[in-house]
Amino acid sequence: MPTDFNATRAAFDLPEGVIYLDGNSLGPLPRGAVDRLAQVARDEWGQHLIRAWNSAGWMDQPDMIGDRIARLIGADPGSVTVGDTLSVKVFQALSAALELAPDRKIILSDNGNFPSDLYMAQGLIGALDRGHRLVTPAPQEVEAHLSEDVAVLMLTEVDYRTGRRHDMARLTRRAQELGIVTVWDLAHSAGAVDLDIAGLGVDFAVGCTYKFLNGGPGAPGFIAVRPDLADRVRPSLSGWLGHEAPFAFDQDYRPAEGVRRLRVGTPPVLAMAALETALDVWDRVDMADLRDRSLALSSHFIDAVEAQCPDVTLATPRDPAARGSQVSFRHPQGYAVMQALIAEGVIGDFRAPDILRFGITPLFIDEGDLDRAAGILARILKDGSWDRPEFHRRVAVT
Ligand SMILES: *Cc1c(COP(=O)(O)O)cnc(C)c1O
Repeated sequence: MPTDFNATRAAFDLPEGVIYLDGNSLGPLPRGAVDRLAQVARDEWGQHLIRAWNSAGWMDQPDMIGDRIARLIGADPGSVTVGDTLSVKVFQALSAALELAPDRKIILSDNGNFPSDLYMAQGLIGALDRGHRLVTPAPQEVEAHLSEDVAVLMLTEVDYRTGRRHDMARLTRRAQELGIVTVWDLAHSAGAVDLDIAGLGVDFAVGCTYKFLNGGPGAPGFIAVRPDLADRVRPSLSGWLGHEAPFAFDQDYRPAEGVRRLRVGTPPVLAMAALETALDVWDRVDMADLRDRSLALSSHFIDAVEAQCPDVTLATPRDPAARGSQVSFRHPQGYAVMQALIAEGVIGDFRAPDILRFGITPLFIDEGDLDRAAGILARILKDGSWDRPEFHRRVAVT
């Protein structure tokens, strides 16, 4: 059955008068989440107390949710677990990947990667102190830098600023030919594009659940490991819940089987409960339908903006195959323009130095929303109202 995007739209509680084009950064509230959070707090936490770890299945949440995310990213069942934040999952994946290529010293990424991924790599290199080097060419130069000196290829598939999408299939294949371990960050891919991690033989994949997946602020990260590799992974963050028998309270760490060894500590139960209601919506979505709809909506928005707004330039690739599920435009005063848009109820965001970023999220956005947003953007640019002093004042989170 084709995905019913009217039904998915009805599953979210969006404020009246808001056109929400920032679901790529923080997804909106699924209608079921408030009741579910109240129920978990009142009944499970309140009444079951510590017994709920067993009776309400809290301890199994990371694996159960991992399997639901696995379908969305084309990973094998049993190969994904959930917890911590994406930055932590990047650290775990990268350290495990480096262990699998002990004689090589280069971590290859790109200079468009999200800073936290690069920072985590820098921190890990310092902690290991074994002479590793992080190399970050421009995204289009990455392929030329693949060689037998590279230990790990660590890339974010979809660029957070421009929405440019790496050719994951091609780069993964080239990396495999050269014996390079692959770590793909799916922060802007999970819930945004159709993926086939298992089919491509990706070694490690990581991502977060509060962006396109709509898990809510502070929702946990996820990590996927190629199943035949999982039992060779030596966890660097060897927390008790990744132990083979946490409640044996042994003095020495022995990793659990498979991806479970990449659990660290206590699961964030309330955050996971909210995430579960978001995944209930995703259960009704076919990812190929999502991709088709996302590209159609993105093209629609690009056409609408370009037809009316000569002052902005497209930063996202025109080739649909080369983009994720966001559309970005450049404007020299992008910050103020975005603040003016937000004041009009069109919520996107700004990424330095000059990017107006709009998340295209088929679960709750349609052509009418995008037409209205483009119209408001055109009006703001034409009448110069974006240039008012209050729109130039910087806030902490852009
Ligand atoms: C959003 C994002 C992060 C954020 O990591 P957190 O630890 O969840 O704050 C990291 N990496 C990429 C590529 C991202 O897009």
